Amino acid sequence: MSATDFRARLEALAADDLLRTRLVLDTPCGPEAMVDGRRLVSFAGNDYLGLASHPEIVDAFREGAARWGAGAGASHLVSGHQRPHEELEVALARFVGLPRALYFSTGYMANLAVLPALVGRGDTVIADRLNHASLVDAALLSRATVRRYPHGDVAAVERALEAADGRKVVVTDGVFSMDGDIAPLPELLALCERHDALLVVDDAHGFGVLGEQGRGVLSHFGLASPRLIYIGTLGKAAGVAGAFVAGDADAIEWLMQTGRSYRYTTAAPAATACAVLASLRLIGEGDERRARLTEHRLRMRQLLATCRWPLMPSDTAIQPVQVGGNSEVLALSARLRERGLWVPAIRPPTVPAGSARLRVSLSAAHEAAHIDALCAALNEVGHE
Ligand code: PMP
Repeated sequence: MSATDFRARLEALAADDLLRTRLVLDTPCGPEAMVDGRRLVSFAGNDYLGLASHPEIVDAFREGAARWGAGAGASHLVSGHQRPHEELEVALARFVGLPRALYFSTGYMANLAVLPALVGRGDTVIADRLNHASLVDAALLSRATVRRYPHGDVAAVERALEAADGRKVVVTDGVFSMDGDIAPLPELLALCERHDALLVVDDAHGFGVLGEQGRGVLSHFGLASPRLIYIGTLGKAAGVAGAFVAGDADAIEWLMQTGRSYRYTTAAPAATACAVLASLRLIGEGDERRARLTEHRLRMRQLLATCRWPLMPSDTAIQPVQVGGNSEVLALSARLRERGLWVPAIRPPTVPAGSARLRVSLSAAHEAAHIDALCAALNEVGHE
């Protein structure tokens, strides 16, 4: 073993069908993408509402850059916190119905800030086993004791809370990014109330899509509590970039004071905040887009009801097709690509070993014909 044996390490990844490749797109984010001179129908992005290339958001970005320049020049706590950042935080808090929000340049950074700010050595993080990688990393970074519970297992959370030391935090994806199912938040919040714990919800895939006017998973369940710390990301349904953490005003002040990945990084360009402000308006007015997403989902589930590869249970825009093996999922993804359909093959460590899948991501920007083409191809390849 040598520190420089990268070639051997890469070859080991390749032998397990775990090498990733990047496709270069020659088109903006949308339902169709040009890759290597070929037009593909894309089910690969997270632009659930089809806002990433919306002209009003692009205009807001352009005007924001003209007014505020390209870069913020410093971190928020030094001199990078400009008026659009401030206005965006107020708008985000109001939109999700929580007292205060803090804007971050990415969801990964938001998650890295949250858990280490809330807990430390001697405390306990109780985490769903299928949480996003950024929450896993954040829990490790916090130095708290980490207890991972079987996916969605409320009884296991209760046992973990009963046995936990120090300050307690339960942390979960709102919508699971590779599964599409929704966390049992009412039950988890009731447990947190009973055991004096906080509930951290990463709603990267629910914000904009679920709840009244797209206000997210808390609105979907009608939940409110000072014990909730809500994380929404702004690069998926919102179509731009960044993230926010919302909750009790003191909790958010504490996060601003102590969150290391908040303090020690340059603020996102104000133009990004201008674009997100425009996106928030469109999300609020987006019932038609959300209805289209539901239609696409129901259509797909109906057309694939007897497909060789089962759809995993999901009521969201993420519709994974269960395949199993790494080489099998790669082959299936390649067959679809030959037919002009782009559906990423998701393999370990993103998902547990043996549960490789196609992650179909639906968007309001898709046409019914796109869904039909995908389902017809899956059914045909399944019969070969
Ligand atoms: N949380 C979840 C559940 C995610 O799926 C992602 C992105 N894949 C993130 C956080 C990170 O967000 P961002 O892409 O804004 O860094």
